[in-house]
Amino acid sequence: MALRLFNTLTRSVEDFAPLDPAGKQVGMYCCGPTVHDAAHIGNFRTFVFADLVRRHLEFKGFAVRHVMNITDVEDKIIKAVHAAKTSLREYTSRYEAAFFADLKTLGCRTPHETPRATEFIPDIIGLVEKLMARGLAYQAPDQSVYFSIEKYRAGGARYGQLLKLNFEEMRVGERVRNDEYAKESVADFALWKARAPEDGAVFWPSPWGEGRPGWHIECSAMSMKLLGPSFDLHVGGEDLIFPHHEDEIAQSEGAGVQPPGKRFVKHWMHGAHLLVEGKKMSKSLGNFYVLRDLTAKGFTGREIRYLLLTAHYRETWNFTMEGLQGARTSLARIDECLAKMRELAAGTQAAPDPALPAAFTEALDDDLNISGAWGEVFKWVTQMNRQFAEKALTPTQAASALAAWERVDSVLGVGTSPEAEVPAEFIALLEQRQAARKAKDFKRADAIRDELKAKGWVIEDTPKGARLKRL
Ligand code: AMP
Ligand code: ZN
Repeated sequence: MALRLFNTLTRSVEDFAPLDPAGKQVGMYCCGPTVHDAAHIGNFRTFVFADLVRRHLEFKGFAVRHVMNITDVEDKIIKAVHAAKTSLREYTSRYEAAFFADLKTLGCRTPHETPRATEFIPDIIGLVEKLMARGLAYQAPDQSVYFSIEKYRAGGARYGQLLKLNFEEMRVGERVRNDEYAKESVADFALWKARAPEDGAVFWPSPWGEGRPGWHIECSAMSMKLLGPSFDLHVGGEDLIFPHHEDEIAQSEGAGVQPPGKRFVKHWMHGAHLLVEGKKMSKSLGNFYVLRDLTAKGFTGREIRYLLLTAHYRETWNFTMEGLQGARTSLARIDECLAKMRELAAGTQAAPDPALPAAFTEALDDDLNISGAWGEVFKWVTQMNRQFAEKALTPTQAASALAAWERVDSVLGVGTSPEAEVPAEFIALLEQRQAARKAKDFKRADAIRDELKAKGWVIEDTPKGARLKRL
């Protein structure tokens, strides 16, 4: 079955076909974090969703080039830098490092490129210059440069591609300097913000005087530089539809850099928001969680990832502590089944049983129907447990089941519990110990046992031979 995904641009579920004539390469851009604070679990719902999109595309055989920017200059950051009396780089690097560590904890594949806005200033200026040259941007009396929606529309372009806008209320030339502004307020937005006293040392020279880029232009410049002026897939949270993504389209298509008949982005995907215990997350309500708040309660990254992956990406979804407990139980069911399969397979290798991957893919191909996909996984777990109990499985069948799980887990990314995974180097040591014992070199066998113990693993002698267990 072909992969079908909802496209915000057409408001419908469409076949996904990349621009690459060979149908292989996919350029994917996801709006990354604004590194003004630690990212919260709402942000991570969106990043785990983007990771699922990428992993599923890779599973389907596409060669994905995944770009995720780091917004390291923006209104909120400047305010925070000012308050912390530090430098921009010093301030943002702390949150940037924490963000990447969190992505790893959640088992997200690292994007191929993670450009920082501050390192693309010449590209941003170049893009603003193009808009100026085409008469779509102007310098206002406040010295900032704005995008003219009126001129853009007068040239036949459509502003309001991702959502319907009310132009009746638009007052020509009305401007917004803020990066984030009221929903559906149609106003000229800042491309280049003239230096203000509160910006401190955060400014760059430009043809329009000292200043800094607006948020929206950062993403247009970085995505087009790294993926080309027309690319396949743009992902982000639903709050970015307007104004951020609408403005990205206006700037990028306004610059006229796409090949004839091609759009800036072919396919737009937006993830719905996460609520916590039924409410919008907010520090004042005490329901605001960063990842560390959850790991400090003893939950693992894979449990949190599992939970974030349970709801369909277009559904607003409620995060609860009970849900997290449930995630632990569900993963334990999978782990237990896999442990039995491993024991039975005892190192036998076999090709994956195609049934589970096929049913799983069919669900995900339907606009990432993740509950359908999990449904297939748990149906399979029940079936494997039953066959195991009935002693109806051979070691080869168990190995084939394990290989099938590996296939689907390349998309789910929840792995197996750390207890079940013995690193290869320790397995090699165990084998050396067994060989030493066989050769009656007990001194060496004991030395290896001690080495393993020092590294946190004990050898358990079972009727099926020796195996390693975490201390
Ligand atoms: P930010 O760092 O604020 O620019 O946000 C990074 C990403 O997280 C963006 O794609 C946002 O749309 C997304 N996001 C923000 N809040 C939430 C939320 N409560 N649930 C899901 N995604 C969110
Ligand atoms: Zn963006």
